[in-house]
Formats: sequence, structure tokens, C-alpha cells
Amino acid sequence: MDRRVGFIGLGIMGKPMALNLIKAGFEVTVYNRTASKTESLVSQGAKKAKSPREVAEETTVVITMVSDTPDVESVILGKNGVIEGVKPDSVVIDMSTISPEATRRIASRLKEKGAHMLDAPVSGGEQGAIEGTLSIMVGGDAEIFERCQPIFQAMGKNIIHVGQNGMGQTVKLINQILAAGTLNAVAEALLFAQKSGVNLEKAIEAVKGGAASSWQLINLAPRIIKRDFRPGFMIDLMQKDLNLVMRTADEMKVPLPATSLIHQMYYSLQCAGECKIGTQDLVKALERLSGVQVGK
Ligand code: NAP
Repeated sequence: MDRRVGFIGLGIMGKPMALNLIKAGFEVTVYNRTASKTESLVSQGAKKAKSPREVAEETTVVITMVSDTPDVESVILGKNGVIEGVKPDSVVIDMSTISPEATRRIASRLKEKGAHMLDAPVSGGEQGAIEGTLSIMVGGDAEIFERCQPIFQAMGKNIIHVGQNGMGQTVKLINQILAAGTLNAVAEALLFAQKSGVNLEKAIEAVKGGAASSWQLINLAPRIIKRDFRPGFMIDLMQKDLNLVMRTADEMKVPLPATSLIHQMYYSLQCAGECKIGTQDLVKALERLSGVQVGK
């Protein structure tokens, strides 16, 4: 396969993902809106492009990893966007988490240019992006998915084709229902543990090998105990995802009472200005209800 891959969006997730492509031997051309963020990748062998359009002109596979639906629309469909430089039979892989419905619209615009799209959102956090162990849920043509397997394998481990365009994003929303609910359970359990007087580290050690274990427990409980609220995944991004979940659930007429409550708790944190903080900050919304503070 052609080893030239473009990467647009070098944030918390995009930068380590692009680095893993370089390490796997791909010739990577990068673009980031804030140009200074390309420097460390350029020093490791990446080429720098001046626009998403130039990325598409230089490569046959373009990956986007930006924040929200309007941002993906802007870098793909906007002025100097990917669509202006994309070649017939090229592939655009959007790995951001965005609206399934907008994904289908973007895919059909790219199809008019003879290009293919895969929606391939990820799970596994910053650590998974650094270690190349992301879970990747992919929507789009099965044949195009197979063509792009070497690219996915450079960034992830559990790589599953789940259906046509939009279905990757739908599965990512399912992932977020699970992640938000589990993190809420971790935060409540820690508050309960704190008030009971038990040693928090020992309590986590004791339960993490059993049926209550989870990624959220293993990765975020230790940070909550140390009161480390730096973002792996920001509250604003979680709320973007829970907004998509609640809107889609509403359209399908599926009540999600617990997810809706967690969405409101995150909203209370946003109202308090806690927007760019890690999702483990959810514990603070619960602390304000109970007057108990977890950890040191
Ligand atoms: P981030 O650190 O905030 O990075 C966002 C990136 O998107 C930056 O490179 C930013 O450019 C770029 N960007 C945003 N809007 C843009 C626009 N309109 N035009 C051009 N570039 C734009 O976010 P992140 O944590 O890497 O998340 C990226 C995506 O992955 C999101 O959809 C998120 O939901 C998803 N995700 C995140 C995690 C996680 O744990 N962090 C896990 C799974 C999935 P600038 O540098 O110029 O701001």
C-alpha cells in the first residue's frame, strides 16, 4: 500500500497517534491549526503542510483527529479543506468523535469526488494513543477498511469494522454511555470509601481484580485519590459526546435516565468553569452534594 499518510489535528490524541504512524514506517504529512504543535513531529521525520488541502494533495490517506462536528466539517469541507485536494480513490479517515448523521453527509460529499470515507473513532485515552493500544470502531466499506488495516494497526489493538458510514460513530456513543456510567460509579464508590475510613488504595487494590473492575477504576481512581485533575479527556469533550448521545437517544425514543443525570452533573461542573479539566473531576460534583472530599 502507498505509505504516504496525512494527519490533521495534533492535540492530546492526534500527536501520539501520528508519532506511532511515523514509528511504523509511514511517510506522514501533518497539519495543525496552531502550527507550533507540528514541531516535535517534524523533528521526528514528519513533513509539514500549510493547509488540510495540501495534506490531501500530498497523500492518499488523510486522517482527521479534531474536536467536534463543526471542526471536522471545517477541515474536510471548508475553504482550503481536504475536499479541495483529495484525489479519486483516496481515503479520508475521521478518528474524532462526532455526529453519526454529519459523518454520513461528509462521506457523501467525498464520494462526489470519487474519494472514500471511514469513520473510525477511538477509545483508550491518551495512554492508549501513546502506547498504540487504542480500540478503534470503524464504519464504511469493508473493502476500504481492509485496505487501511496497516494504518489502524500502527495506532490500535482492538480494531473492529461495525458497519456502514456513521456506525463507527454510533458505536463510539455506546462506548461513552458505558464510560460515563462507569466513571460515575467509581466516583460514588470512592466517596463511600472515604467516609467509611477504609484505606482508599487498599480498597481499589482489593476490588480491581474482580467483577467490578474497569478502565475507569484502574486509570482514573488513582488520579482522583491524588487529586490529579489534569485532562486526559476534557469535560467539554465528554459533554460534546453526551450531547450527541442524548440527542440521538431522543430521536430514537430511548430514555437513558442515568446517562441524562450524569450529563447534568457534568453540566454543573461546566457552569462552575471546570471545562478543560479531566473527566475524573466528576467526583467534585458528588463531593459538593455530600460535603465529603476524596483523597489527600
Ligand atoms: P485536543 O487535545 O483538544 O485537540 C484537538 C485538536 O483539534 C487540536 O489539534 C486542535 O487544533 C484541532 N482543532 C480543533 N478545532 C479545529 C478547527 N476548527 N480547525 C482545525 N483544527 C481544529 O482534543 P483531543 O483530546 O486530542 O480529542 C480529539 C478528538 O478525539 C475529539 O473528538 C475527542 O472527543 C476524541 N477522543 C479523545 C480522547 C481523549 O482521551 N482525549 C479519547 C477518545 C476520543 P489547535 O491545536 O489549533 O487547537
